[in-house]
Amino acid sequence: MLINAHDHMESYGDQLPRALNIIEEKEILTLGVSMDPASYDRLKDLARDHALIKKGFGIHPWMVRPDTSLEGLEPYLDDCDFIGEIGLDRVWAPPESRLPDQIRILRFFLDEAKKRSLTVNLHTKGCEKEVLDEVRRADVPSPLIHWYSGPLDLVPAYLDLGAYFTISSDFMDSQLTRDLVAMVPMDRILTETDGPGSLEWVRGEYGWPDLVEDILDFLAKEKGKERDEVEAMVEANFWRCFQGSQRNHSLTETK
Ligand SMILES: [Zn+2]
Repeated sequence: MLINAHDHMESYGDQLPRALNIIEEKEILTLGVSMDPASYDRLKDLARDHALIKKGFGIHPWMVRPDTSLEGLEPYLDDCDFIGEIGLDRVWAPPESRLPDQIRILRFFLDEAKKRSLTVNLHTKGCEKEVLDEVRRADVPSPLIHWYSGPLDLVPAYLDLGAYFTISSDFMDSQLTRDLVAMVPMDRILTETDGPGSLEWVRGEYGWPDLVEDILDFLAKEKGKERDEVEAMVEANFWRCFQGSQRNHSLTETK
């Protein structure tokens, strides 16, 4: 089974039917992340009709404002399959989204993840050290680090915390991603697309969900392994990453 460990379903817009066809035809188990409660509501409607799409609830750092409320989120936390997208960003977040507010929101979600044994899907842009410290403090199991592009000297500390790293749309264009692949053992790597706009951002091409197949080819080459072996390892990594999750059953029902 192919794995897309971080996708933004609402970003497909009117291309969504084609994206869903690809997901179903190629059997791509997809972690859909949300940006805020309204985004989660749309994702939930979609996931109801598409068993391969799993739903993450979070407030993305770009959406955080000084008055972002954490009231009334209980039903979302009770319903989601995992937590995400959450994290910190001092590079691309709009100025209204200040780091102290982002940290307040991140801590809330990490503490809920710990309390409820939920897997977290993390954005770390420009705040890789801060996110590492927060993850360590909250002691969440197997954090999933999405499209890491920070200092490589922090990678061993993340691995010590049981982290999994996704390889995303820039696999052909980034030396940092190649260095990351060389550093992270094959049993801690996952594949993802981060929505259709990411490949567009990297190289001007639409990022369909089956981009994860190209990432597997790349990983096979970089790691000197057979493509089938790499595919099986990424799937095994995925199940292991979610093993300790209280919502593990809602993922494994798709197996
Ligand atoms: Zn994302």
